[in-house]
Amino acid sequence: MQISKEQLELVNNQVKRLIQSDNFYGKRLEEAGISQVTSQEEFLKLPFSQKQDLRDAYPLGLMAVPEEEVVRIHSSSGTTGTPVIIPYTAKDVDDWGEMFKRCYETAGITNKDRVQITPGYGLWTAGIGFQNGVEKLGAMAIPMGPGNTKKQLQFMEDMKSTVICATSSYALLLAEEIAKEGIQDKIHLKKGVIGSERWGEKMRNRIKGELGIEIYDIYGLTEIYGPGIGISCKYECGMHYWDDYLYLEIINPETGENVPDGEWGEIVITTLVKEGAPLIRFRTHDISRIIPGECACGCKYPRIDTVMGRSDDMMKIKGVNVFPKQIEEILGTFEDLSSEYQIRISHLDGRDTMRIYVEATTGHVDFADMATKVSQAVKAKIGFTPIVKVVELGVLPRSEKKSKRVIDERFQ
Ligand code: ZN
Repeated sequence: MQISKEQLELVNNQVKRLIQSDNFYGKRLEEAGISQVTSQEEFLKLPFSQKQDLRDAYPLGLMAVPEEEVVRIHSSSGTTGTPVIIPYTAKDVDDWGEMFKRCYETAGITNKDRVQITPGYGLWTAGIGFQNGVEKLGAMAIPMGPGNTKKQLQFMEDMKSTVICATSSYALLLAEEIAKEGIQDKIHLKKGVIGSERWGEKMRNRIKGELGIEIYDIYGLTEIYGPGIGISCKYECGMHYWDDYLYLEIINPETGENVPDGEWGEIVITTLVKEGAPLIRFRTHDISRIIPGECACGCKYPRIDTVMGRSDDMMKIKGVNVFPKQIEEILGTFEDLSSEYQIRISHLDGRDTMRIYVEATTGHVDFADMATKVSQAVKAKIGFTPIVKVVELGVLPRSEKKSKRVIDERFQ
């Protein structure tokens, strides 16, 4: 998506701020001899920033304002190494709240709603982000935090919560618990705002069905404010994002070049007005695409598609970029297949081949016929023909890690 004149001016302000602040990116700009950005061409010459840069800046190397202006920090989980610390000014906190309020409004939530918040409070950006948005909107926040399902259900009943904010897995757990207790008629939920995990259509439909609510997907990452920088609308065709706060690019993760609107690639985000820790061209490693055209809801904010996975999961077959999630979604449309699968990619007779192993859940399926159907579905949706093998239930290895399901024999 072409950067607008207004966005370019804001980026230019950010560049000046970063150089003045002498933070890691400011130094990088100085080294590159860049002091301003006045065109798209110049913008595209700005270096990317990466999660590793943020780790290297630990603890406060990201700070781009005098310390007395910082009112809060957040931190992303340090499970893979040094945590990342993001400083926020009062204006950053306020801007984030505005964006979150806009998310709730896009979901049709009003100041008459009672919003039960189950994501965690603390160093990370989840619970408190949901809360800020509720308060800005003027709705009633019920700040439960995670866990203690019994209490969650009691409050849901007694407080007559109309909105639930949760991860997809917790929403499903609550739905199942409600069904088990047989208290559906005491629950007043109308909408769910679901964030922070990748999830498929199947799970989404189960939550929708079990709770009888509308579901909205929220997007965000700690490095860029937190959740609330984008949300799906009732038409469920991607997520609107707030382009007056953020400029999004979609790049080919291999070359770093922008791809045309509509094509899949990695989301790269530039913050336009952030003060505490502005980020320029931050590589999220999330895979999505810009959805061209206007949304049926009439909202003018642009859209990205549901995040399809991480750029590290990308497979390139016969010149087509493929993500395990895409295959998974297709397999999910077949009733007689289990959720297990294995993908093997090899280089045979001078060409790339993808073999997909799937499990039939019943013996009544014609394996050859099923294989043809799956193969045709992949061809229709993604654009190349895989070799599909159907096997009996339980044959494929069970693994916790999704990545283990893809074996690329080309590099072995
Ligand atoms: Zn829309």
